[in-house]
Amino acid sequence: MTDEDAFRGIARTLAWFCPDLWPQLQTQHVADSTGHCRPCYSHATSAPMWPCRLRLLADEAGRLSGLGKGAPRRPG
Ligand SMILES: [Zn+2]
Repeated sequence: MTDEDAFRGIARTLAWFCPDLWPQLQTQHVADSTGHCRPCYSHATSAPMWPCRLRLLADEAGRLSGLGKGAPRRPG
């Protein structure tokens, strides 16, 4: 199983079993003024650049559900 397979598997689980969760993640995990994801901030690691892994998961779950805002486009 590749990372991509694992990612899709988790996204599918979210889409099917947690239909209330991924829209919340899409709402919460947005870029701040510096382009970082504030909800993902921790004292151990600084906030990751947006879109963070959780946002990408939520977007993929939304895409699989045929709802949601769709995955943010990344060059490449
Ligand atoms: Zn995040």
